[in-house]
Amino acid sequence: MKIPFSPPHIDQDVINEVMDTLQSGWITTGPKVRLLEQMSAEMTGVQHAVCVNSWTSGALLTYKWLGVGPGDEVIMPAYTYAATALSVMHAGAKPVMVDVLDDFTVDPQKIKEAITERTKAILVVDIGGWPCDYDAIHRIAASEETKKLFVAANDIQKQFGRPIVIADAAHSLGALYNGKPAALGADITIVSLHAVKNITTAEGGVICLNLPAPFDNEAVYKWMKLNSLNGQTADALAKSQSGRWRYDIVSLGMKINMPDVCAAIGVAQMRKYKSELLPERKRIFDHYTRFFQNKEWAIMPTYQDTGRQSSYHLFLLRIKGITEAQRDKMIQLISETGASVNVHFVPMPMLTLFKENGYDIKDYPVAYRNYAAEISLPVYTQLTDEQCSFIEEQVALAYNAVV
Ligand SMILES: *Cc1c(COP(=O)(O)O)cnc(C)c1O
Repeated sequence: MKIPFSPPHIDQDVINEVMDTLQSGWITTGPKVRLLEQMSAEMTGVQHAVCVNSWTSGALLTYKWLGVGPGDEVIMPAYTYAATALSVMHAGAKPVMVDVLDDFTVDPQKIKEAITERTKAILVVDIGGWPCDYDAIHRIAASEETKKLFVAANDIQKQFGRPIVIADAAHSLGALYNGKPAALGADITIVSLHAVKNITTAEGGVICLNLPAPFDNEAVYKWMKLNSLNGQTADALAKSQSGRWRYDIVSLGMKINMPDVCAAIGVAQMRKYKSELLPERKRIFDHYTRFFQNKEWAIMPTYQDTGRQSSYHLFLLRIKGITEAQRDKMIQLISETGASVNVHFVPMPMLTLFKENGYDIKDYPVAYRNYAAEISLPVYTQLTDEQCSFIEEQVALAYNAVV
């Protein structure tokens, strides 16, 4: 049975919304992007959200606003997709990687130990859609000890007086922490709308602003809009109105705006995200859980506890006591049946670029342990119960064959 890993959710409503944009005569940044920003803000519980062309560019714009650059450090978990660290390196700053907990999220105690006078931000990841412990992270970021170490290099940093907490919410749109949108746990939350994420615009990202007083979130929204489009005072849509030809370039902005034709896909998906798409993803999680909870060799991902709820992005199954080589063999056997499974993620210190920069997986024992035993199972709206059962059977057969 051929089962792909994560095809996008493209239904008639998505097609109609894209057609509407194509036929409207306006295909780049305009009304659809504005609508997607409003829907994203509502979904994450914040007042202002900025759409850009990827999570990565959203992170770069955030560092530009905050003034993070050479000589600065950003603390992050070693267990994430490489973009988390690459964005920091592109800004010229240093990713300081720390180990994770058994549930794959960053270990707050390790963050505490990693804080120095160069720490400008703490970048945490809601891995697979499971929110990290924001209360603990915030307590550390705002503690007197941390504040004493913090050195502000500009007025924005001075207003914070502590490292800013940024959430890599590439996986966790719609997740809850303390019963509220997880994005309320960080100062800035960046969502990815890449093709494999829960909601997509093919490529895209959203910066969700939850800045504490005395920040003016609306003013920061405007700054980010300006600096996502060349630092130009009138965007292309405004300039297209007759007589509105004059503009100015007032800062060295980036060119990372999202086109309306892409936003249209996200708008159609966002409309039914809570009512249809998230429940469908949960159906898959529940199906897998019913099967694997009776297997003493399986460790299932947590996706619900008091106050926390996943966005069901990745089902991070682990096999008890297995070696990396046995896991690889299992994946090979499962793949031969046509069912796609995956590994999320190879910890960054195991990748060549980071090894060459001095990171060593030996310093991250939990990340390695989680990785070596992990097999991600497919999760998407179109996956049928029969396909879920087929995947479960293949995992069980592969386990019996290998262990
Ligand atoms: C996908 C992903 C990103 C990068 O998103 P882009 O939109 O492709 O830049 C960052 N972090 C994590 C954890 C991801 O899974």
